[in-house]
Amino acid sequence: MTAKVKAVPTLTHLMMDLAVRGSITLDCGRCLDKLTGAFAVKLRLLVEKKDSQGLEWEEDEGLGIEEYLVKIGPDIQEIPLEHLIAEQIILNYNLNPLPSLDEKDRCIQCNRQAFQAEAVRRDKDKVDPRWQKLQALKKPELDKPDADKPDQAKPKGP
Ligand SMILES: [Zn+2]
Repeated sequence: MTAKVKAVPTLTHLMMDLAVRGSITLDCGRCLDKLTGAFAVKLRLLVEKKDSQGLEWEEDEGLGIEEYLVKIGPDIQEIPLEHLIAEQIILNYNLNPLPSLDEKDRCIQCNRQAFQAEAVRRDKDKVDPRWQKLQALKKPELDKPDADKPDQAKPKGP
């Protein structure tokens, strides 16, 4: 993982623009194989000094989705960024990708043959002309009133 930081001091804050790149390992949502992908996220950290000790992450509605405000006391030497980076990855990337199948029913990511059931399910969307004819033959029967239950059709007289 690499990170580039641009720090700009303002009157109230230290504004840090971070660009983080690295690789993440995901599970292919189709094959459950591990996929390694590259990520690049940007985030902005606003650092504000406070007199009391400790580190506080501040929620502020004025902050953008990639902006974080942290208040640090004089005892704080470093600011952990792992959870910010993790959050940005979650916001920007689909962690359960479901890659498409190619024309040979292989996962375009893993190149693995799709499960038979899935391949069949995909084929079902395309209507086979032979099936279409069979469906046409079957249909008039289905549309007839239900002949198996004659009781329902008969009027019930005294
Ligand atoms: Zn896959």
